[in-house]
Amino acid sequence: MAELAPYAANPEKSRGRRIAEDRPEGRTEFQRDRDRIIHSSAFRRLEYKTQVFVNHEGDLFRTRLTHSIEVAQIARSIARNLALNEDLVEAISLAHDLGHTPFGHAGQDALNECMASHGGFEHNLQSLRVVDLLEERYGAFDGLNLSFETREGILKHCSAKNAALLGEIGERFLKGRQPGLEAQLANLADEVAYNNHDVDDGLRSGLITLEELRSVPIFERHVEMARAAFPEISGRRLIHETVRRMINSQVIDLTRQSLANIEKTGPGDIDAVRESPQLITFSAEMKKAQHELKQFLRTRLYQHYKVTRMSAKARRIVSDLFHAFTSDVRLLPAQFQETAEESGNIMRVTSDYIAGMTDRYAIREHRRLFAVEEIAL
Ligand code: MG
Repeated sequence: MAELAPYAANPEKSRGRRIAEDRPEGRTEFQRDRDRIIHSSAFRRLEYKTQVFVNHEGDLFRTRLTHSIEVAQIARSIARNLALNEDLVEAISLAHDLGHTPFGHAGQDALNECMASHGGFEHNLQSLRVVDLLEERYGAFDGLNLSFETREGILKHCSAKNAALLGEIGERFLKGRQPGLEAQLANLADEVAYNNHDVDDGLRSGLITLEELRSVPIFERHVEMARAAFPEISGRRLIHETVRRMINSQVIDLTRQSLANIEKTGPGDIDAVRESPQLITFSAEMKKAQHELKQFLRTRLYQHYKVTRMSAKARRIVSDLFHAFTSDVRLLPAQFQETAEESGNIMRVTSDYIAGMTDRYAIREHRRLFAVEEIAL
C-alpha cells in the first residue's frame, strides 16, 4: 500500500476494539476487519438481497453483494488517489449494507412500521448490530468485534435518540461531528455506485428507455461522448460506454474536490478530520447533475408502477411475517424462540430474524406460514 496521508486512518493508532485482542500477525487491524466481514454469514446473504429489483426478477440485476463490491471498487480507487487507508475503506464498503432487510427500502419501511412502538428499525443501526452482536462466529465475543474506525464508518446515519444509547460510537451524531475520511468516502462511493447501476439495471429491465434518459443532462453528455468515440455504437455497448464514463467523471470530480477541501482545511490527523466540516464532497456542479439524475430515477424507476406493485407485495410479506411471529412465539425457529425467552424482547428478536432473511427466504417463509396449499413445513 502507498504511504498514508497524515489525515488517513492509521491502523497502528486505531481506537481499538470493544473487546481487546492481540495484534494480528501478517495483516493490519483493518485488513482483519475486512477479512472478518467477508467470512460472515450476513455478507453471504447479501447475494440474495436486492435494492430495486427482487432477486427472482432476473439473474443479471445487481444484488446487495455485487453492489457492495462495486462500492468497494469505487471507494478504493479514490482512497488510493487521496492516500487514504484502502483496507479500511474496503471494510466499510463491504459491510455498509449488512443490516438491510429483504426487498430493499420497501422491506425496511415495513419493518420500521411494525417496530414503531418498540424502538423502530434503522438499517444502518442494524448493520452495526450485525457486526457488534448478531454474528455468531467467535468463542470470546458476540459479533465480529471490529475496530472503532470500521464501526464508525458502518454507522452512517443515526437518530439522536438511538445515538444516545450507543456510547462512544454514537457521540458524533449528538455533537454534530464527522467520521474519518474513509467513512465519508465509502458513503459517497455508495451513491456513485447505486445511481449508475440503477441506470444500467433500469435500462436492462425495460422500465426506462435510453431516449427517456437523454432528458437527464449528465446522461446525455456522456452518451454524446460515447458516440463521439464510437460513431456506430448502439444497444448494450452504448449503455455500458455511457455508464462507465459517468462513473469515471464522478470519481474524478470527487477526487479533485475532496483534495481541494483537504488542502484548504489542512487537517493534521483523523481527530482533526472529525472536528472539520465534511471534506469528502462532490463539486457543486456534480451535486446538481446527480440531483437531476436521482429525480429521474425516483419518478421513472423507483415509482414505476411495476416496482410499486412489487414493493407493496414486499411490505405485505414483511408485515405478515412480523405479526405472525410476534403473536405466537412458537412459530419462530427454535433458536430464535430461545433468544426471545432469554431477552424477553420478542419484538426485537423477530425484527432481527426478519432483517436477516434474504428475499427468497422471506417469500418461502411467508408461503410456509400462509399458503393453505403448502403442505411441507
Ligand atoms: Mg449501499
